[in-house]
Amino acid sequence: MPAKRPNNPARELLFGDLWEFDPAPETADPNIAPRYQLFINGKFTAPKSKKYFDSISPRNEAKVSEIAHAGDSDVNAAFEAATAAFPKWSKTPGAERGKYLYRIARLLQDRAREFAVAETIDGGKPIRESRDFDLPMSAAHFFYHAGWADKLDCAMPGRRLEPLGVAGQIIPWNFPLLMMAWKIAPALATGNTVVIKPAETTSVTAMKFASILQDAALPPGVVNIVTGARETGAAIVGHPAAAKIAFTGSTAVGKWIQRELAGSDKRLTLELGGKAANIVFEDAPIDQAVEGIVNGIFFNQGHVCCAGARLLVQESIASEILHKLKLRMRHLRVGDPLDKNTDIGAINSLAQLQKIRDLVQGGIRQGAEIFQTECRLPKKGFYFAPTLFSGVSSSHRIAQEEIFGPVLSILTFRTPEEAIEKANNTPYGLSAGVWTDKGSRILKMSAELKAGVVWANTYNKFDPASPFGGFKESGFGREGGKQGLLDYAKLA
Ligand code: NAP
Ligand code: MG
Repeated sequence: MPAKRPNNPARELLFGDLWEFDPAPETADPNIAPRYQLFINGKFTAPKSKKYFDSISPRNEAKVSEIAHAGDSDVNAAFEAATAAFPKWSKTPGAERGKYLYRIARLLQDRAREFAVAETIDGGKPIRESRDFDLPMSAAHFFYHAGWADKLDCAMPGRRLEPLGVAGQIIPWNFPLLMMAWKIAPALATGNTVVIKPAETTSVTAMKFASILQDAALPPGVVNIVTGARETGAAIVGHPAAAKIAFTGSTAVGKWIQRELAGSDKRLTLELGGKAANIVFEDAPIDQAVEGIVNGIFFNQGHVCCAGARLLVQESIASEILHKLKLRMRHLRVGDPLDKNTDIGAINSLAQLQKIRDLVQGGIRQGAEIFQTECRLPKKGFYFAPTLFSGVSSSHRIAQEEIFGPVLSILTFRTPEEAIEKANNTPYGLSAGVWTDKGSRILKMSAELKAGVVWANTYNKFDPASPFGGFKESGFGREGGKQGLLDYAKLA
């Protein structure tokens, strides 16, 4: 029997009597091992540290697997393997390197369903997103870079691209497999070898990916995966054999890494936080804009560095947008991420849930007006109702700090100049959205917004051919496209 819903006038207005979806859980076997070792020199290797930690599922707090905790000597062994593999791999003809990348892409496609379920269980994102976004995009990055591997001579006319050596790579928990693909694919295409660390709360798909590398017969040592916590990351950053550090994560850790590497000849790219403005002008297609706003902030529970977390709406349409947005938000389903009907899954960890709660409390204390949809959150697991704040001013914490959760702050503006000033008024500069009917306005706004990516009349669109990266405290360096390739090469 479907459970009775609380009285909800908006739902009744749209659908007549109350209705409810039946549960539709995804059933593919995620094939998760009870324990994962490190992946060093092509083999699963027990950590010399002898330590393991639990990975739990944010969907119900159940233990998912035990993960090896790499200590300094394990990180050392990974760098030794990557250093030993570098001479041969870097001299392997591009067409041959490309074949490995194609093989990895196809194996990922073959096992996409299994990987999607594992990603959702370990990280909490809705199965619809891991199935329709994370997995296809991860494969797409390998396909795209496979295509570059034998065409590097064409990337910069008259110049040759040479690999850097061993790349040390550190990634966050919001798109675990996809961030791994963003890091590994360009590094291998350009002939580098890799030591990579996934985030502590989301190592499962990284270790499943190691089995794909084995199946693809990638030469031992070309990719080494060391799981662990922040000390493991710090050991990668400080390792003398790293020719480059590629980091995606918080601005605070990014700044620390930059200080650590100051004065060394290591290359560095940083993909850090954001607080994007999604700007809606009065001539915008309103209904599409509302969909874009919802997608911009609620995709992946708002755990998105480029999330449209600040809605800047022109004053003349503010009340209409707010009304339609609230209606639309009432139809977002929050709950078990393994259910195919779920729009908003679980918050990745208890620590992140606490951070979201604190910032939301701060927003209420500073006087912004809160709206949350009525929804029954599961009793077990980490969940947060979709939230918006209106009456926000630029000085509020919720307008300045990255919340990294399903929380939207709404500000208003009168003129394009005011929109630009407000949009640029943060330490970040990763992304922005512009909704308007006028092409000239889109061009003007994109030129004046200090953001690495500007979407026009859409949001959260990605393509491996399109470079992604930030300005200001959102970092430097690009991932994807030719620019991303150049960040893994020196020009000769
Ligand atoms: P985080 O705390 O900075 O962690 C990111 C990664 O760095 C994790 O693997 C983490 O390991 C590791 N780490 C932590 N301290 C370290 C240290 N001192 N030295 C070396 N590595 C260290 O960030 P997060 O909270 O996991 O991720 C969310 C942040 O990432 C957000 O700010 C978001 O905007 C940003 N992000 C940016 C992009 C982008 O492309 N610009 C994409 C996604 C996310 P543990 O997990 O084991 O602590
Ligand atoms: Mg987990």
